[in-house]
Amino acid sequence: MLYYFLIMPSPFANAKKQIDAVVDILAEYYPDKSKFRKVIESIKTPQKVFKRNLSIRTDNGKAKKFMAFRSQHNDARGPFKGGIRFHSEVTEDEVKALSTWMSIKCAVVGIPYGGGKGGIIVDPQKLSESELEQLSKKYAEFIAPFVGPWKDVPAPDVYTNPQIMAWMLDEFQKIKGSHDPGMITGKPLAIGGSQGREDATARGSLYATREAAKLLKLDLKKATVAIQGFGNAGYFLAKLCPEILGAKVVAVSDSKGGIFSEEGLDIDKVLAHKKKTGSVNCFPKTKKISNEEILELEVDILFPAALEDVITKENASKIKAKILGEAANGPTTPEADEILYKKGVFVIPDFLCNAGGVTVSYFEWVQNLYNYYWELDTVHKRLETKMVKAFKSVVETAKKYKVNNRMGAYIVAVERVAEAMKLRGWV
Ligand code: NAD
Repeated sequence: MLYYFLIMPSPFANAKKQIDAVVDILAEYYPDKSKFRKVIESIKTPQKVFKRNLSIRTDNGKAKKFMAFRSQHNDARGPFKGGIRFHSEVTEDEVKALSTWMSIKCAVVGIPYGGGKGGIIVDPQKLSESELEQLSKKYAEFIAPFVGPWKDVPAPDVYTNPQIMAWMLDEFQKIKGSHDPGMITGKPLAIGGSQGREDATARGSLYATREAAKLLKLDLKKATVAIQGFGNAGYFLAKLCPEILGAKVVAVSDSKGGIFSEEGLDIDKVLAHKKKTGSVNCFPKTKKISNEEILELEVDILFPAALEDVITKENASKIKAKILGEAANGPTTPEADEILYKKGVFVIPDFLCNAGGVTVSYFEWVQNLYNYYWELDTVHKRLETKMVKAFKSVVETAKKYKVNNRMGAYIVAVERVAEAMKLRGWV
């Protein structure tokens, strides 16, 4: 949902506006309207926000400070859950908005967590490995008093990775004095990570897309696919498309541009080419296309899997795909959303489409709690069950309230969080 950052005064103000939009639809169904509005007011406010300046000693012996945050949005449905972002543009407002959206995502996909998010204002590429390790451990020390497997479970986000999770876990262990791998997810396999985390986001998106195709009676064996982005989400979408959908990937792109082949692309060879040359560009026997053109191709299924804000009011009417699977966060602007809805494009909203990642993080936590690890096949089957169920509840809700799928997802989530809060007697 990062696209909102550009058009709204603040991402957090926008997160609240989005929830208000759901209230207008739902309020009439609640007999006690004032109680319902009170629930919503508290959903709009994170329960706690922590911040602290973290100090590290740089390799040349100087002290350096970095501002760090953790926002715990709402734990009515379970422990807070959400990543830690290392980025120079992190703000308190952004962390609060992202924690709100994590509550929504976890509720949509039906995993028993509330939303959390953390961040440090830092450009990690400017730190040496030992400085990065120090900063990661300082952050773990900062949040240790208020996180834990039954309180708040962090994970990777932008510019944080399994190695950083491993350093943080080690620091938690030193502070708590015992092993507790369920404190944090996205860990390397060797210290309690889950099988199947690497391709979970793409796999989840494909399960949801397969359900959408069934609904639209789209013959997947004849279907064509275009994917913008060839990173973690985009590469695995392309790789798994033939296996899960049986459809043909005809176009992919990365930051340097895209390639198109009517016959379909051999994804292993495209990856090898990218590793060798740094881009998918100039892959033999393909037509060069731009990152704008890839979105407007005559394909059945389009996956934006790179950036926010790429489908706008300028190009929405030119989208020819029947299904738009939002693997990226926030690829569609609100104006474009309206145009696509009227045009009849079936949008699988980001909260649902890319929820496979947090779902397998949840599986990792479950495995950590009983210290028994699942085979890959079990992870896949359970992910599929979760994604299909979430897809159905979003689509049925959208139909019931005569709204688009994105609003359907919001309604599902807000209702679930509100119900948990009411049951606990929070209002
Ligand atoms: P990544 O960094 O691995 O890959 C990003 C890809 O986008 C790269 O191939 C890069 O070349 C490409 N790219 C960059 N600028 C581009 C441009 N201008 N046009 C086209 N492509 C461009 O990132 P990722 O993990 O694959 O994440 C992609 C999106 O999916 C993000 O919006 C992210 O928030 C979302 N997402 C990812 C996960 C996950 O588990 N990886 C989970 C949920 C959501």
